Amino acid sequence: MIPFSEAFDIVQQSTRPLPAESVTLREACGRILAQDIDTDVAMPPFDRVMVDGYACRREDLDQPLTVLETVAAGHPPTQAIQPGTCSKIMTGAAAPDGADCVFMVEYSAEDADGRIRFTGDATNDNISPYGKHMVPGDTLLTVGHCIRPPDSAVLATTGCTSVQVAKQPRVGVIATGDELVEPECTPNATQIRNSNAYQLCAQVEASGCIAQYVGIAMDTTESLQEHISRGLRENDVLLLSGGVSMGEFDLVPGMLKKNGLHILFDRVAIQPGKPTTFGVTDTKYCFGLPGNPVATYTIFELLVKPFLYALMGHTYEPLDIRLPLGEPFTRKSAGREAWVPAVIRPGGTIGKVDYHGSAHINALCHAHGLIAFPKGVTTLEEGRVIAIRLTR
Ligand code: AMP
Ligand code: MG
Repeated sequence: MIPFSEAFDIVQQSTRPLPAESVTLREACGRILAQDIDTDVAMPPFDRVMVDGYACRREDLDQPLTVLETVAAGHPPTQAIQPGTCSKIMTGAAAPDGADCVFMVEYSAEDADGRIRFTGDATNDNISPYGKHMVPGDTLLTVGHCIRPPDSAVLATTGCTSVQVAKQPRVGVIATGDELVEPECTPNATQIRNSNAYQLCAQVEASGCIAQYVGIAMDTTESLQEHISRGLRENDVLLLSGGVSMGEFDLVPGMLKKNGLHILFDRVAIQPGKPTTFGVTDTKYCFGLPGNPVATYTIFELLVKPFLYALMGHTYEPLDIRLPLGEPFTRKSAGREAWVPAVIRPGGTIGKVDYHGSAHINALCHAHGLIAFPKGVTTLEEGRVIAIRLTR
């Protein structure tokens, strides 16, 4: 059995990044950049008006102003501001020459003669100068960056309609167990519905990868062989759930070896998830994950997700937030590092969810994240500041 940190390092060190491919701007969100993004434009591209109002000279704010013209966004001003004049102007328009401030329409009044007065006490300039945010040639995003909605805005702004991104790992998912039936079936007295496969496919897709559900393998060498060989043939990565413990019908590790996988570890000092198994060939990767749903989920979050991102050239940085515990957390045995679901309460403390252990399938639904008991620790006392890893 190896510590989790060692398992993590073994997995990370075995990754060979996938090649790049080109996608459209609309397809890019959730993908990992395989190119730097440099801008060909400045932002703002001109001295840009930030409010709807009147452009004028600051020194004229205390006098009635003659309106020269109305300037809309997308249309150039035709007149320079002279002493005693202003131009009505809209948000996003270019400031006219001679103007050094724009007062808001909300702080204006029109005199009987049609001239405009500033009615406020003071005003910001409300003009954002050329190049304040970026100038041509600036590098805005770099290789390995995970593209999120604001990055799509940057790609659009910089005219990047075709984006080089890392290929998505294809991830095959196999559930194992004679007791499993598919969700559309009504289980008999000794069966349960297969939930892990659907949870894992959803986690794979939420991590920006392509999931292929291979099916339920029975606890027989024949059925496992059929599913594992198809799963390996058609994918870069294979995830199996169940069948890795010490039971008489836990045949997965043996079948992985039989299929040419070199097993790098098969026991990890973590709770839940002790039987987690990892094997590789020259071209493929395979995780044998524990069968209990909370364990499957947790090991995916802690180990598989950072691995999948590493295949795409991205260093996954979990969102760990340090907060005080609003109540004590205890456990009985402290031989392994342990992870349990938790919530952030409105007052900013970490609290419990109803959790009966790694088979408690519905415990995670209302959790915000996971907290860790370090090895050797049975009590995390109220008030102690610890990290909660957000999983939402
Ligand atoms: P195993 O590791 O195969 O011994 O499974 C451990 C526990 O997880 C057993 O109670 C299984 O019934 C359950 N389990 C295994 N696979 C799944 C699955 N795909 N969906 C839901 N529960 C599962
Ligand atoms: Mg089983």
